[in-house]
Amino acid sequence: MGRIIDLRSDTVTKPTQEMRQAMLEAEVGDDVFGEDPTVNALQEKTARLLGKQAALFLVSGTMGNQLAIKAHTQPGDEVIIEASSHAMNFEGGAGAMISGVQFFAIPGNRGVFDAAQVEAAIRVEDVHFPVSRLVVIENTHNRGGGTVFPLTKIREVADLASDKGLRMHMDGARLWNACVASKTSPAEYATPFDSVSVCLSKGLGCPIGSLVVGSQEFIKRAHRFRKMVGGGTRQAGVLAAAGIYALDHHLQRLEEDHNKAKQLAQGLSRIPRVIINPAEVETNILYFDVSRTGQTAQEIAALLRHRGVLVHPTARSLVRCVTHLDVSFPDIHEALNAIEAVMAA
Ligand SMILES: *Cc1c(COP(=O)(O)O)cnc(C)c1O
Repeated sequence: MGRIIDLRSDTVTKPTQEMRQAMLEAEVGDDVFGEDPTVNALQEKTARLLGKQAALFLVSGTMGNQLAIKAHTQPGDEVIIEASSHAMNFEGGAGAMISGVQFFAIPGNRGVFDAAQVEAAIRVEDVHFPVSRLVVIENTHNRGGGTVFPLTKIREVADLASDKGLRMHMDGARLWNACVASKTSPAEYATPFDSVSVCLSKGLGCPIGSLVVGSQEFIKRAHRFRKMVGGGTRQAGVLAAAGIYALDHHLQRLEEDHNKAKQLAQGLSRIPRVIINPAEVETNILYFDVSRTGQTAQEIAALLRHRGVLVHPTARSLVRCVTHLDVSFPDIHEALNAIEAVMAA
């Protein structure tokens, strides 16, 4: 068996030699004192890129979403969010524990919803009801299949939120993919939001790191809460250097990952018993349905593992594949051969 082709997630990438070199050479200081020049440079660079006043470097995207929810809400408030979103489903119940909020889940179409759905979800003023405080949009949408949330729809939701006095947060763990796929700048996407969290550890290939951006005042609050949850770090410039390198060198190349995902989807659509609509693949994530094989996604994943291909079973019959820096076009071809063999067996 040759080397492993790991399509489980875009988080499995290893830092490149050039990225490691940048980390090695980073100037550092104690960031709890605000004295790490590389962390400060990354924060300034990211704030500028997203057109916001300030940014805060964090260990994870989860921390970004949860600090934003905390900074925008009071316990008992309600957060309007898509039903299969990361911040509600895959962050360990942190919204309830850290912020004491409850979520109002609205069903999206592959993660995308519209202003009318938000309007119907907003509570009227009445002692029986929680206070609707925040709308969260995930872009790209992970469970939706790497879906790009259209900017026009975001603006409609933001106009409504502004009318009703609600705040807006974007879970932009893969905002970079949305920007490249839709040829929209990060700042254009960020403008309608009070805060945006972004990840460096997904498609951009860093070993660790996320940021949250917003106004000075918002970042000041988020910074206080970061300290409370133990998220203050010291000579984190070695990590921030990877982020600066990634923003300079790994952003535009995401288009290549999108092309690999499209190639994979097209190949999958030609394999008997695979259910997939390749037209729905917009970025680097795809899901395919294996229910016609009579086997579970878990069983299919185990068979593929024997052939050196790793995929992520995410529901009984649903398999997720994600393309990234560490899979090549020939790897996609090889993965397709393995999937074809497993599906025929
Ligand atoms: C991965 C992910 C996160 C959380 O990032 P971590 O760094 O793993 O905590 C948040 N939102 C979405 C949509 C994600 O895919």
